[in-house]
Amino acid sequence: MACQQFDQVADYLEMPAAQRDRIKYPKRSMIVALPIQLDNGLVRVFSGYRVQHHLTLGPTKGGLRYHPDVALGEVAALAMWMSWKCALTGLPYGGAKGGIACDPRNMSDGELERLTRRFTQEMIPFIGPQVDIMAPDVGTSEQTMAWMMDSYSMHMGYATPSIVTGKPVGIGGSLGRREATGRGVAYLVSRAMDTLGITASQSTAVVQGFGNVGSVAAHSLAKYGVRVIGVSDVKGGVVNLKGLDIEALDQYAREHRTLLGFPGADAISNDDLLTTRCDILVPAAMERQITAANAGRIQCRILAEAANGPTTPEADALIAQKPEIFVIPDILCNAGGVVVSYFEWVQDLQSFFWTESEVMDKLFRILEGAFTQTLALARKEAIPMRLAALSLGVKRVQEGKRLRGLFP
Ligand code: NAD
Repeated sequence: MACQQFDQVADYLEMPAAQRDRIKYPKRSMIVALPIQLDNGLVRVFSGYRVQHHLTLGPTKGGLRYHPDVALGEVAALAMWMSWKCALTGLPYGGAKGGIACDPRNMSDGELERLTRRFTQEMIPFIGPQVDIMAPDVGTSEQTMAWMMDSYSMHMGYATPSIVTGKPVGIGGSLGRREATGRGVAYLVSRAMDTLGITASQSTAVVQGFGNVGSVAAHSLAKYGVRVIGVSDVKGGVVNLKGLDIEALDQYAREHRTLLGFPGADAISNDDLLTTRCDILVPAAMERQITAANAGRIQCRILAEAANGPTTPEADALIAQKPEIFVIPDILCNAGGVVVSYFEWVQDLQSFFWTESEVMDKLFRILEGAFTQTLALARKEAIPMRLAALSLGVKRVQEGKRLRGLFP
């Protein structure tokens, strides 16, 4: 998907063949074997991955995912998207992504801590505050980042908070980082509503995925006055056309580790949830959820791609035939996370910390700029929002490589 999208953008930009591979191929791709002792005394070897897409504009930056399906190809695609996202928002980073093929829901805290520390140790030759900085993604959390920061700091001999972002505030995390992605999604949805003349208090939203991004996006949309009528997690969803109480859902999900059985709502499958009629559809779970099989049945006015890569290229082509659907493409929609990660890194490097309102203010200013530029280009050239966002990002990386020249 990522390569296909890149080829489309390169064609659109009429990029010379000689530059294409140089911009497309990841700079470094690593696979490491991670043996750890399980709680039952046995030793198991997990596979860990890290892909650093380009180092032209600064260190690489990107999340770390713990999920059974993690593989090198997925990580490489996510790293490439991170590059365009960082460039679109003007951050001095290349993209990266990492992951470990494991099922964190069936592992103890002790096992997860040993796995995280072992992965950090294996990565030490390839990471650093000026080389590659990790952050949480699916299946990882502030705690994962705290273990990474501690492992790296023990190796260096001094506290190095700038090695990761998305860590707890008590050890150099930034206020507002945990909420940044979801709040950014809601901010961009509100900008899209302004553009389309939709009134928040008369609109409805459906959110797939109720983790960090999905739950905060649901909360923030509700704060803008939107009625959230459906949400889901990996096990399925719940729907109530009169609106869901997001606070109560949060508490229920924390207590039961699922949304299923939430009182005052009907059960719904993930597939049916995605095709429920609503004004705002927010896929905030995994990639490839909107496919050729269900894209034709999607009934929303704004598709806010909070997850990375939720829409396949085939589905994209079907959605392009429905001009009534306004797409906020993933590299724009979920950029709030990496923008505040950048703020966290800057604060750590300077040991000078900002208030939450300073963080949010600066975040919304950057998102506003990226949204306005993307929309202006999409309208001027009559191209889809995704192509506009990607081409802005790719062009900045292309320009950086041109200015630096070819070494040696
Ligand atoms: P998370 O692990 O906190 O939550 C993921 C949620 O999705 C959970 O509720 C899980 O049950 C659900 N889920 C998993 N598989 C599903 C499936 N097949 N169908 C329906 N629901 C499913 O992860 P997160 O950090 O919220 O990340 C969600 C998405 O947002 C990912 O695509 C991630 O790459 C992207 N993203 C995250 C951040 C961030 O700051 N955390 C930033 C940018 C993009």
